[in-house]
Amino acid sequence: MSVVAKVMTVAPIGFEGRIIEVESDTTKGLPSLQIVGMGSKAIDEAKERVKSAIANSLLEYPARRITINLAPAELPKDGTHYDLPIALAILASSGQLRQEELDKAAFAGELALDGTLRPIRGAIVIAEAAKKRGLTHIYLPSANVDQASLIEGIEIIGVDSLKALFLHLKQEMRITPAGKQTGQKSSPEESTGPELDDIYGQEQAKRALIIAAAGPHNILFTGPPGAGKTMLARALSGLLSPLTAEEQVTLTKLYSLAGESTEERVASRPFRSPHHTSSRVSLVGGGTNPKPGDISLAHLGVLFLDELPEYPRSSLEALRQPLEDKTVSISRANGHVVFPADFMLVATMNPCPCGYYGDATHECSCSSMQILNYQKRLSGPLLDRIDMIIPVSRVPHRYLLKSDSVSKKQHKNAQKLINDTKKIQHNRYRSSMKNNGNMTNRDIKKYAALSDEAHALLETASKKLDLSARRYFKTIKVARTIADLDHSEHITPSHISEALQYR
Ligand SMILES: [Zn+2]
Repeated sequence: MSVVAKVMTVAPIGFEGRIIEVESDTTKGLPSLQIVGMGSKAIDEAKERVKSAIANSLLEYPARRITINLAPAELPKDGTHYDLPIALAILASSGQLRQEELDKAAFAGELALDGTLRPIRGAIVIAEAAKKRGLTHIYLPSANVDQASLIEGIEIIGVDSLKALFLHLKQEMRITPAGKQTGQKSSPEESTGPELDDIYGQEQAKRALIIAAAGPHNILFTGPPGAGKTMLARALSGLLSPLTAEEQVTLTKLYSLAGESTEERVASRPFRSPHHTSSRVSLVGGGTNPKPGDISLAHLGVLFLDELPEYPRSSLEALRQPLEDKTVSISRANGHVVFPADFMLVATMNPCPCGYYGDATHECSCSSMQILNYQKRLSGPLLDRIDMIIPVSRVPHRYLLKSDSVSKKQHKNAQKLINDTKKIQHNRYRSSMKNNGNMTNRDIKKYAALSDEAHALLETASKKLDLSARRYFKTIKVARTIADLDHSEHITPSHISEALQYR
């Protein structure tokens, strides 16, 4: 008689997980192992790992005909975390484990040949899907437990080896579930940026940076080489507000799926700076089993593009849809997956190829044609997504020597100001997803609260400066943030006139 055993695991599909049933059927016949159900090459290779792991755990690998089915069969599956559920299904269908010892739980882990467990990608996504399904326990490699325990409401048990798990399930030896973890946090990219106090002069650019961080608003610094554009942008990483618990889960999922942080939690807002030579796939995400790209790894943080015109046109065009929708849709074999991509875009550029166009002391050596072509590299639609354009000029040398501001006061004050403004916005919009930077035109009518004088000033200015409708609404958005930094309920004429400078 043949026995069919069932073990549950999870397939991460894009940003979510789907429950997969690993079925094992053991029948008489020539000894063989077959895996069906749209598994990838990694899953086919599981055969050898599973055989060795079972034998080396001093358990019995059945000398029979074994068929493993991964259901639902129409869903493509990839990853090494199927090793553990496949091994357990074989042990159950050969009578070494009982089905009820496996129910109500999900299992995931890569097996080494000696039967120990190796960490896997996407552990937090797997734990979340198991919890949603109403399972009470999830068994994961010990190394993945800290990260997975960000998910509450399911017992997460760290496993070191197949043998230890086997004895635990037979109730012959107890593995204690992971307690609530507190320490062990890591940031995706340590905040090594300079602080505002490290940057001399540039008071206007610093002010713009604070406004941009508080919105958040997409920002472009333009100016000659050596003016400190990159340093200003990098100072942002230390100015971003702390993550909420929910945001931490979202970011940890993304980093885990990308394979960038499989064991730790993400503890601070990301600051991603992909080089202009990086591929379109690494920038926006993709691959046969789609992984998040830099724009998703910058979710809830900053995407920094240094020397914007150096990026290939196709990469910049690929940013347009995510900048609009705050998500990125990637097509795959059957259908598509969606990853979040709500980032603040921070970019820099020289005014011309040589960099000195408009500089007071250095002559520009470019022809007017070269300058025009250089500036045309940025498409209108991309520039439309940028709320603030900040000219940065070089600081005279005598300024640089005046290094009397060794205190960290400016940076600390800015951090507080930004956090306060975030709270004001949170109370206004009553949603963590909404902010001054992503207000729709309808939101603007509802929340902008322009005083009559401010409205009159904006009307006059928009006629005089010939502002496009888009620029008109952007001015209000930026003015709203300036008013919030001022703790002012209404937007006043001074807020409007400051916002008008940043275009
Ligand atoms: Zn030039």
